[in-house]
Amino acid sequence: MVSKRIADIPASGTVSLSNLVSSLRRDGADIVSFSMGEPDFETPRNVVDACIDSLNSGFTHYTPSAGIPELRKAVADKSRRDNGIPCEARNVLVTPCKHAIYMTAMAYLDPGDEVILPDPSWVSYEACIRAAGARPVFIPTSFDEGFVLDPRRIEEAITPRTRMIFLNSPSNPTGGVLPGDVLKAVAEIAAEHDLTVMSDEIYENIIYEGSHASIASLPGMFDRTVTISGLSKTYAMTGWRLGWAIAPEEGIAALDKLQSHSISCCVSFTQPAAVEALSGQQGDRDRMVRKFKDRRDLAMDLIEDAGLLMCNRPQGAFYLFPKYDLDMSSEKLSERLLREAHVAVTPGSAFGPSGEGFFRISYAVGEDQIREGFDRIHRFLRGL
Ligand code: GLU
Repeated sequence: MVSKRIADIPASGTVSLSNLVSSLRRDGADIVSFSMGEPDFETPRNVVDACIDSLNSGFTHYTPSAGIPELRKAVADKSRRDNGIPCEARNVLVTPCKHAIYMTAMAYLDPGDEVILPDPSWVSYEACIRAAGARPVFIPTSFDEGFVLDPRRIEEAITPRTRMIFLNSPSNPTGGVLPGDVLKAVAEIAAEHDLTVMSDEIYENIIYEGSHASIASLPGMFDRTVTISGLSKTYAMTGWRLGWAIAPEEGIAALDKLQSHSISCCVSFTQPAAVEALSGQQGDRDRMVRKFKDRRDLAMDLIEDAGLLMCNRPQGAFYLFPKYDLDMSSEKLSERLLREAHVAVTPGSAFGPSGEGFFRISYAVGEDQIREGFDRIHRFLRGL
């Protein structure tokens, strides 16, 4: 009964693993979960209070489909100020980040179009591209090159059917940050071949070394970029499902049309709280980022001390993508780690063909969990 287009798409590797962990835990299993990319911190108090105020004031009905004007403006102000993106409120659509990516694929792609994307990259890009009837074209990146995208390989992959390039920096799953010269080279390629860029910047604030740059801030790029970001990771607000897309007005109109036919609008009473998140105190955000850095350092020390895995030092996000030296698929290894060592990790192959031989660790959990989880992983690997 299900369409072939959807039947051919696998379920999200990250979400299904997290569902499995939840059900094992409900049955009493003691699992250390490095699976879901989800901060364990509480949403900042000022944001929660703003939401409660909004509920108490009866702000519980539909909002304009593109979001309340105050939030569209707050996103535009932040994106001009912090990202250098030349946008106004009319260029912003409020929507969950993941829905923004899905709608971008639907709004910008026709069946048979090709989309260039880094390999490995986040599990749902390929699914969104396929759901739109388009074809993903993976550009392999390698451990030895720190998983940095090589613009020459992008150029070689372009055909008359190429319509878009998907970027994600800092990267899920590698934690790599795209250097400025690579962004510039990608921008030049996009302009030369008249391509649109979808830039997923959801980890933009979680950076330890280097700095974040938005490709839409480069000369001429605003007109050909959909920039997507949100509150989930920066403000520990994953359950709020609030993010945004920034694009030229024509693109926003297309996304808004899809939004009006799908979810109508985002939840109303969370939107004033999102204004507070973006324009209120940023101390909690900065504290969480410092904590993530400490956790990265701890996890890297544990890996280096044990000497059983190889791992690039990530500059951002909250993921490690270690390489293992075993004759076993990453799916099998992850399954055995969960069943035998009670640690949940995401198989590297879920992120594309170049992810085979790796697994992803989300270290957005407490330090005691990081120590315990690595202890279990290392004991398991030694046992092999
Ligand atoms: N983006 C997070 C992750 O990669 C959350 C799950 C998902 O949306 O894939 O773990």
